[in-house]
Parts: sequence; C-alpha cells; structure tokens
Amino acid sequence: MYLNVAEIESAITSLHGAYPASSETIDLPHLTHDGRATRLLRVGTRQSDEVPAILLLGGMHAREWVPPDALISLAADLLEAHDIGTGLGYGESTFTAAQVERVLEELNLFFLPCVNPDGRHFSQTTSAMWRKNRRPAPEGSVGPSCVGVDLNRNFDFVWDHKAKFAPDADVHTSDKPCDPQVYRGPAAASEPETRNVVWALDSHPRIRWMVDVHSAVPVILHNWGSDQNQSTTPSDNFRNPDLDTVRGRPDDGIGEFIAEPDLKSAVELAERMNDAARAVRGVDYGVEPAYGLYPTSGTSDDYAYSRHVTDPADAKVYGFTIECGDTFQPVFSEAEQVIREVSAALLALALNAPEVAED
Ligand SMILES: [Zn+2]
Repeated sequence: MYLNVAEIESAITSLHGAYPASSETIDLPHLTHDGRATRLLRVGTRQSDEVPAILLLGGMHAREWVPPDALISLAADLLEAHDIGTGLGYGESTFTAAQVERVLEELNLFFLPCVNPDGRHFSQTTSAMWRKNRRPAPEGSVGPSCVGVDLNRNFDFVWDHKAKFAPDADVHTSDKPCDPQVYRGPAAASEPETRNVVWALDSHPRIRWMVDVHSAVPVILHNWGSDQNQSTTPSDNFRNPDLDTVRGRPDDGIGEFIAEPDLKSAVELAERMNDAARAVRGVDYGVEPAYGLYPTSGTSDDYAYSRHVTDPADAKVYGFTIECGDTFQPVFSEAEQVIREVSAALLALALNAPEVAED
C-alpha cells in the first residue's frame, strides 16, 4: 500500500526515533496552502557542515505516487543496514556493508520525501490524476482546474517563459492558472513548497547534488532543460538577455553553457545511476539532458545548478531528475520493483558522487 501523507510524516518521526545517532529531522519553514508542515530527514552520522551532501526530493507532482515511498524506503534501508552492519541488495544491484557505512559516514543525505503533501492528499482521496499543489484559485477563476501551481515550473530559473524563450520554442509551461497541468504560478518561487526546497539549499551549503524523483518514463535527466547544452561559449547562458528571443530552439547553434568538466561529471554520475537501476531487473532508464525533446522553465534541477552561476558564493549543485517506472500509480507489487530501481540508483550516486565531482 502506498503511504499517505500522515504516514510519510510518521515514518520520518519513527526513523529518527529508532536511529537518533545517524539521523536528524529538520523543520521546513513554510506551511503549505492547506496548512501542512513538512520536514527534512537527514541521514548520516556527521553534522550538516562536516561532509558533502545530497538533497533528495519526491512527491513534487501529486499523482506520482511512487517517489515518496521510494525515498522513505531508502532512508529506512540505509539506517537499518548501517545500524546492524549489513549490506543492501536490490535485485542484482548489491552494496556491501562497507559501502553503506561509507555513505552514512562520508556524506549526508537530506530526504524531502513529499514536497507537495496537499497535492498528494488530494490525489489519494479525491482526484487521482491531480499534478499541481493546492494554491487556491485566483479571484474570478472558476473551476476545479484553476486550483494549484505546477511546482516544477515555479522555480526561479528562466521562469517567465514568455519573456525568456523564442516565441516558437515549445516550452511546456503555462501562465494560465486554469491550466490543469503546468501553470507556473503568479511569480517565481511564489509557492511555499518551492520556497522550502530553496530554503533547504540555502541552509545547507554542503549540498552538492540534488535529485528530484518523478515518474513515469523511465529516464535519468541531467542539466540543462532550458536549451541544448554547449561547452564552447560561456556567454551564451541563461543570464544573457540577448538570447531571450532565441532560447529553447533546437539545433540553432545557440545553447545553454555548461563547462566541459561539469557536463562530464553530470553524465558520468547519471550513467552510474542508470547502471545500478538497470541491474535491479534489466530496465534501462537511459540518460539524457533534461532538454530532451522540448525546453522547460522553472524546474528544480536547473534551478539547483543555476544557483552558483547566479551567485558565485553559492555552492555548485548538480541537478538530476529521475523519472521512475512507466505509470504514475502502478499496483504496489510493481511499485516495489520501481522503488528498488530508485534506491539502487540513488545509492550509486552517493557512492560515486564524491569521486566524480571536479570541484
Ligand atoms: Zn513529475
């Protein structure tokens, strides 16, 4: 059975209660529109400022029921295995006790299993295919689809798609509140759920990698999503207003800058995640830049990686999105297989990230 919102919160409480020396709960500052509080569960034996860290997000899109369960499951597996000194196995993807120990003693993993609890509750009780959060409909907008913002279009990265992209770029974003899927919100980072993710990054400068777990394709995505990657012209980037009329077009010779070593590191880590996921039962997720077939704006993964460009005082945070499984709400026996794939992928990231990072 899938966890409901209350069960996710109680799982965080009981995991920290059972393993107080290797975990911590951290209250996020912003309540959701329906008044719900969310927390981070930090897994690791060292303090937040002592070792590099990975931020793991799930449940941003309400109807994607597997990712929050996957993150709670991985946190529980890691804490238990570390405590009793065993390894972990997901199908043919296996991790030794020494590897588990390394993850908990050389890194911190910050779990935010359910970014959008209002949306999940609504999806699990009222409207299964709901995607957005539950921001009340704006004055004068009538109809159930006028509620909510797509949180993964709300981050402060080329958020204003009408100003920041070529008119013919096929950006999958909307400025219409009644768009049932991809309404970007009234302003960048307008949503409390978005601001909680930003707060998590601001408050934990040792975070160097972020994975936003979604469903369902399957695929593993790395930066960028705004345009095709290029590593030759640093000035062709998201901060350059000269590109606002051309951003997002495919194969026009103008792309978003990513330094060669960063791209190499991002691809390498995504490949390690894919190898581990595939070993579970043979499903090849594949690795792609988030741009894929069309450009996106306001997404969490690009926001995370853009921070150090916008403000060089911020740490460089590589952003990944795992699109797990191939349906939003598979029967739970299938969900358990997908959870194993996600768990294996994230453990592979944790084991490889510190070595692959260039700086
Ligand atoms: Zn999603």
